Amino acid sequence: MPMCIAIDGPAGSGKSTVGEQLARKLGYLYVDTGAMYRAVTWLALEEGIKLDDGPALAHLARHAEIVINHPHVADGRQYTVTVHNRDVTWDIRNSAVTRAVSTVSTHPEVRSVLIAQQRGMAQQGHVVMVGRDIGAVVLPDATYKLYLTASLQERARRRYAELEERTATHATTLPSFEEVLNDIRRRDDVDHDNMQPAPDAILVMTDHLSVEQVLDYICRQLEVVA
Ligand code: C5P
Repeated sequence: MPMCIAIDGPAGSGKSTVGEQLARKLGYLYVDTGAMYRAVTWLALEEGIKLDDGPALAHLARHAEIVINHPHVADGRQYTVTVHNRDVTWDIRNSAVTRAVSTVSTHPEVRSVLIAQQRGMAQQGHVVMVGRDIGAVVLPDATYKLYLTASLQERARRRYAELEERTATHATTLPSFEEVLNDIRRRDDVDHDNMQPAPDAILVMTDHLSVEQVLDYICRQLEVVA
């Protein structure tokens, strides 16, 4: 298998920030698989598809024109997501999608469609792929596997700070800290079965580490393993 780095972890573990910066440092393609689950969920809500209808959701995932590309607007985004040519980069982060995405992700039919697409993206190598099940399921032969985690309180604190910043620039409403914490706790529960670290993943507890420190640590680990 060509060079691939799998980074998994729960919401707020810092995997997206670290994954994007690591990809940039290495000149690799960065793929955030959470955005794919979110884009399918956004479209399902738009089209009024029931969240318990696995086959209909899988049909949507298979046929929707979801494109994740380099960011074309400098508004803090890591990438641009379009669904049928509509820019939904920020819409897929809204609270309705965040509430529904774990339910959509529990359907095995949906997972198998997206997992096949993710494997296709990793085929050419030089990819940092971020998600919940990348090391254990999507790319079991990845060159390196990392599993980032942090306490629930710390993850909620980070997510709240992110939302606070976004609220300032995008005029959206800011949920309370408790709402953010409860949402992460609920998603941890629902995502649990699809969120197991690969047995050979390097575990990184990020509670007391800055993004730079996590990146530093990872780069040292990769050199050790190499
Ligand atoms: O990473 P993010 O929080 O954006 O992911 C949103 C949701 O997508 C997760 O809560 C999970 O339900 C789902 N997901 C998944 N498998 C992945 C990535 C995300 O089930 N590889």
